[in-house]
Amino acid sequence: MTIATINPFTNTTVKRFTEDTPEQIEQALTTAAAEFTHWRRTSYQERADLLYKVAALMRERKNELATLITTEMGKLIAESVGEIELSAAIFDYYAENAARLLADTPVKTALGEALIRHSPLGVLLGVEPWNFPFYQVARFAAPNVMIGNVVLVKHASNVPQCAIAIETIFRDAGAPAGLYTNLLIPGRDISALLNDPRIKGASLTGSEAAGASLAAAAGQNIKKSVLELGGSDAFIVLEDADIDQAVEWAYVGRMNNTGQSCVASKRFIVVAAVAEEFTRKFVARMSNLKVGDPLDKSTQFGPLSSEEAAVHLEDQVRRAVKDGATVLLGGKRIDRAGAFIEATVLTDITPGSPISYEELFGPVAVIYRVNDEQAAIALANDSPYGLGGSVFTNDIERGKRVADQIDTGMVFINHPTWTAPELPFGGVKRSGYGRELSGLGVEEFVNKKLIRVSGLHDPL
Ligand code: NAP
Repeated sequence: MTIATINPFTNTTVKRFTEDTPEQIEQALTTAAAEFTHWRRTSYQERADLLYKVAALMRERKNELATLITTEMGKLIAESVGEIELSAAIFDYYAENAARLLADTPVKTALGEALIRHSPLGVLLGVEPWNFPFYQVARFAAPNVMIGNVVLVKHASNVPQCAIAIETIFRDAGAPAGLYTNLLIPGRDISALLNDPRIKGASLTGSEAAGASLAAAAGQNIKKSVLELGGSDAFIVLEDADIDQAVEWAYVGRMNNTGQSCVASKRFIVVAAVAEEFTRKFVARMSNLKVGDPLDKSTQFGPLSSEEAAVHLEDQVRRAVKDGATVLLGGKRIDRAGAFIEATVLTDITPGSPISYEELFGPVAVIYRVNDEQAAIALANDSPYGLGGSVFTNDIERGKRVADQIDTGMVFINHPTWTAPELPFGGVKRSGYGRELSGLGVEEFVNKKLIRVSGLHDPL
């Protein structure tokens, strides 16, 4: 993929970037490896001071950064501002909590004194997607900088200005050279980088294909990897749910980020008793949205991130219809310039058909009607993915029992899958492995080193 800003509102190329040369990549690796020998010896306080500055600079530059996001990938401007605020909160969270989360853990043993020390691993590579250009990077960079690791970040090729802006913020916050380095290289060159002994681990957020390729290269080199991949979250509506509330959250869960979120609500599984009411109200909620420029605050519905994304999604809808799906709303490209596709609601997709197992990465909702709670759980689990999911019910204990039976990394009761700095995020099955955010986010790229103290004259 060419590294460039292509505004999806107009599909025009705004700015092109030159890929880093092999010499520049070598220099980046050398500088990062050298910096690790320094950064690993800094105190938690020193690291936290840096991250507080990073967060402050993000907030100071909020409008400028949000405009960059919207220009490069089409997010509604209010959501872009929200993303910057959330990213700053993640940097603050790790600045405030990492020393506590990484403190020595005593181990009870008959063999004298023992403890686990959390030591850094070294240079890490983060491969990030375009859908949340700042938030995704914050999830990777903030905990690792606090651990004492140093990071190389390869961002998606369609958000180079966001990628450079984050590196600039680190530099302006006073980060030493090599602590945070942005690489302008295409995805296809990533696997080879894993062969370099200076890189000690890698994290990728993105598609299954990219994740499998990175994990294979990491495995070949006996290096740890974390994968945050796609999802097809079920949104279960039980007969005792508050339907108006469920419809509103269904809209938010499906349409946030124009549907381009790994944890978007994608499969609406509704029990028969309330299916007609839910469907009618949900279709009405998805209708008549104000389409337009995502930089205009009054716009409710913007473009997808790229023309290719819109072409791909339209093709998925076409295949679904060919397989027997009924279109309740939308289904076509919008007749205007830009990467637009109509807000769409489908039903009558046959469980088990090829399209039922695909991730629909955009404003296309699928409604499934089931007889009861058990059928809803079975259908929710009939997916190659295992990222998030929701259960809507007025009986919280029932909601917890259902949550317990859903095979995903996260389940939300009466809310779409969501995120906050203190909540762990990640999936199972083909959604990947490992966790980001919360206390779990500092446990991935850390050497949990046992230190045991013996008396000189202790028996064997
Ligand atoms: P993608 O094509 O996999 O791109 C993601 C990143 O991987 C980009 O930086 C891309 O670089 C790079 N890449 C591409 N091919 C690669 C390869 N062979 N080896 C290593 N890196 C490679 O993903 P996308 O389709 O744009 O992003 C959307 C996907 O991400 C969806 O499936 C979504 O669900 C998932 N996602 C998951 C999470 C989560 O936390 N679980 C969060 C957000 C998004 P180039 O741009 O240069 O190709």
